[in-house]
Amino acid sequence: MARKKLIAANWKMYKNPDQTHEFFHDFLPLVARHDRDEIVVCPPFVDLCAAVESAKGSNVAIGAQDMHWEKEGAYTGEVSSSMLLAVGCTHVIIGHSERRQYFGETDDIVNLKLKAALEAGLIPIVCVGEVLEEREAGLTEDVLRRQCLRAFHAVSSKKAGKLVVAYEPVWAIGTGKTATPQMAADSHSLIRGEATKAFGKQFAENLRILYGGSVKPENAKSLMAEEEIDGALVGGASLHAKSFAAIVMY
Ligand code: PEP
Repeated sequence: MARKKLIAANWKMYKNPDQTHEFFHDFLPLVARHDRDEIVVCPPFVDLCAAVESAKGSNVAIGAQDMHWEKEGAYTGEVSSSMLLAVGCTHVIIGHSERRQYFGETDDIVNLKLKAALEAGLIPIVCVGEVLEEREAGLTEDVLRRQCLRAFHAVSSKKAGKLVVAYEPVWAIGTGKTATPQMAADSHSLIRGEATKAFGKQFAENLRILYGGSVKPENAKSLMAEEEIDGALVGGASLHAKSFAAIVMY
């Protein structure tokens, strides 16, 4: 069975609630009745209520960009899975390279967050990907294997539910450089191989693996044409209603 593609927006630290309402006002009419792909928008925490309110009754789901693995506690500045669910989130990005790079998020933390998200019933989008030095040193495969192995540790196929993985080569994020469709497809099949080891063949065959890294309206079609690419995680180009809609409608 063909995997339904998922196109997700990662707004990073951009937009306030008013700008969130404006985005949806412009975006929703452009993608109304589009049911070929699933659409998810992940704004900053403070915009989640505005996004859920704006997207109500539409074909767009709302996700967060991160979460803590505990349900509640003395963790100043953090947000839990139950809080995300309470405001109407269905998805959550976990282990984005910017979290790993700037906030010290390790593979073990990614694993804790993944388990907590699944337990809560959120759909996790787990990000993996190599930095430039690792690619140049021929370490891409080792890095992806390690990140998958540790992220999936002690997660059963029964628990993994609607897990989504995003392959995001770090050198392609926000740089304008894109992995060629072939490079992405190679990494995606490696990730699918790791998912097969962790969760079995059937689960891995249904697992959606998104590509992220400078996806734009101009390159979306060729990337999405690859059989191994099951959608996109889009940063910069998702901030504008027209360009994100053009990617969704590739
Ligand atoms: C991202 O933030 O996950 C991303 C892929 O960013 P960009 O599309 O800007 O490269």
